[in-house]
Amino acid sequence: VFERLLVFPRIRGGTRVEWLMDRDFTDPLPYTFQLQVGTAGDHDISDWTPVGSTVVNGWYLLDDQERVFGLQQWTHYRVQLVTSKGTYYSDPAPCLGLWDFRQWRRACGVLRNEMLNFRAGEAPEGYLLKRRVQGEPCSCLDPLTQECRNPDCLICYGTSWVGGYFQPLGCVYAALSEQATHSHIEAEGPRGAGGDIIVKARMLALPQLQEKDVWINKTTDHRYIVHTIQSACEIKGVPLVYDPVELRLAPFTNIIYDIPIPDLVPQE
Ligand SMILES: [Zn+2]
Repeated sequence: VFERLLVFPRIRGGTRVEWLMDRDFTDPLPYTFQLQVGTAGDHDISDWTPVGSTVVNGWYLLDDQERVFGLQQWTHYRVQLVTSKGTYYSDPAPCLGLWDFRQWRRACGVLRNEMLNFRAGEAPEGYLLKRRVQGEPCSCLDPLTQECRNPDCLICYGTSWVGGYFQPLGCVYAALSEQATHSHIEAEGPRGAGGDIIVKARMLALPQLQEKDVWINKTTDHRYIVHTIQSACEIKGVPLVYDPVELRLAPFTNIIYDIPIPDLVPQE
């Protein structure tokens, strides 16, 4: 039921494990996820140990321990999913992701530098709304075409999947190109004179972005839809920094402005 696991270093140590679910998996919510570590990439060897607390309906988990820098006995992660219909496991993934130890260290350095640059350049801080691409189908779907019939649906926010987006993630920086300044948007209105307002941004690939995810400027509450994504720095094909990410300012009538930002989850 898991399409894949993605394993990344965290800026202040430890590891972040993200997952993508199989698009055909439609068990009803809630989904309870638990990260586990094991000494061998093998489901049958019964030494899988839970790490940290569970997350409900989430898309990533954090391991605060720097296992990869310490004793090497834990070599793999896997994610356990419990729903009302059953218990499922992801394939095991190495604790260093696709990288060797040296590449892992280099990735940590790149991420740390990038964060320093964001802070030095006063890049706006924001929230990320990760869009659901599978899950429990919304009741607004057309029974024949399985397409969302109501873009203003308050259950799926036009995504077709119950909930629409995952809980907002805080501390997501985006170094915006100049045309994104507040005064520009104020002057031209949300759609601008010449059409949609598109801005380019440099962002960390932590978390990984997908098209149609939403980035929210924390100060202005302007909400942008991720349009295209290009990576600027990769190690072994795994992106670390995106540049440019093309962001489209959503018109202020868009349903995504109805998504509440409750108590936020700090990322680091
Ligand atoms: Zn709906």
